[in-house]
Amino acid sequence: MNNIIRNIETHPLTWRLRKDKKPVWFDEYTKKEGYSGFKKALKNFSSEEIIKLIIKSKLRGRGGAGFYTGLKWSLIPKKKKNTDIIYLLCNADEMEPGTYKDRLLMEQMPHQLIEGMMISAFAIQANIGYIFLRGEYIKAEQSLRRAIIEAKEQKLLGQNILNTTFDFEIFIHTGAGRYICGEETALINSLEGRRPNPRSKPPFPAEVGLWGKPTCVNNVETLSNIPAILNNGVQWYLNLSKKSNDTGTKMMGFCGKVNQPGVWELPFGITAREILENYANGMCKNHSLKAWQPGGAGTDFLLEKHLDIKMDFYSIASAGSRLGTGISIAIDNKTSIVSVVRNLEEFFARESCGLCTPCRDGLPWIVQILCSIEKSKGLSKDIKILKNLCYQLGPGKSFCAHAPGAIEPLQSALKFFPEEFEKGIIKFIEK
Ligand code: SF4
Repeated sequence: MNNIIRNIETHPLTWRLRKDKKPVWFDEYTKKEGYSGFKKALKNFSSEEIIKLIIKSKLRGRGGAGFYTGLKWSLIPKKKKNTDIIYLLCNADEMEPGTYKDRLLMEQMPHQLIEGMMISAFAIQANIGYIFLRGEYIKAEQSLRRAIIEAKEQKLLGQNILNTTFDFEIFIHTGAGRYICGEETALINSLEGRRPNPRSKPPFPAEVGLWGKPTCVNNVETLSNIPAILNNGVQWYLNLSKKSNDTGTKMMGFCGKVNQPGVWELPFGITAREILENYANGMCKNHSLKAWQPGGAGTDFLLEKHLDIKMDFYSIASAGSRLGTGISIAIDNKTSIVSVVRNLEEFFARESCGLCTPCRDGLPWIVQILCSIEKSKGLSKDIKILKNLCYQLGPGKSFCAHAPGAIEPLQSALKFFPEEFEKGIIKFIEK
């Protein structure tokens, strides 16, 4: 693996990480420029100016969809009076199989996320923030709770922060364990104590969100980017990426049968081959790469020939997949693609919220067929049915993006590895 040298110029998210992997607490964080982005924001900029700055930085959401953060902030209506309520929600419900980037940022860099939330809240005029945290992330919860206490002790959270009129409180809410809570309106429902079904849009959360109030939902990694942009300026941020239209760095990684699975902060525009070979140390001995998913379980498979494509939103989409979370999953030559897809579809079927028919009934049907094919008991009509289900669960046919995401691995596996599916069809003439 590359000897990673993280520095303040090139690794805004991770340059403070400690070698012993312990969290960076308040004293160390402030010694290393911590909270100076927030102080700069409060002292030198108005809310509107910060939003403009983030628009100029072209920061895109790091949760998977890649929506422009500054634009999202600009959609929050301005307060008409001081008592108006606006909420900032941090989506920390990281449950995508194979993805663990937000966990590292929360466990080891909790103050960076809190500082990012403080600047974001100041920009959108929110006074209350919630971190909706995956329940199983016990260490992340401990880190965040201690960091919030430390920030409060330093009067960085609470009322009249740094002797200004800005008030901001952060609360942690741990989820009960549903993947669909990562969808922002399902997250809002869950936070309100309701069943986490996605809401119909419009109205969008920017206007009618948590408890009917304007609400902005941002991902952990997205918010963690904000302090460095304030500290070092937009031009510096624009120059961080490597010949890519996307700006800044991204937490990217590889898992599967690779020598060193992991997550690293890398510039947009790096190729997947560079990550696989230079950071993940290549495939394990006697294994070769059969396929890979660029950004988590709900993204289309790509092949070895796609490894030289740049890791950014546009390039990966042009190759027929999605950057998603940026954490790639390697599938090796000894693993059956039918088994991989069956496993993924079982997950998606279990995590469907059940609100709409194509997803609720279609995904278990897909699992049933894949189980038959896996046991070499598939029927000749099954492949046709699977292709039809891919169409029926595709974009625009279900209530939220869960179903279209769920069929991405299946549709690409059927395209690239038809022979593996055909092998599981029983060889006799059906009556
Ligand atoms: S697509 Fe699936 S997860 Fe989304 S609303 Fe419909 S049933 Fe629920």
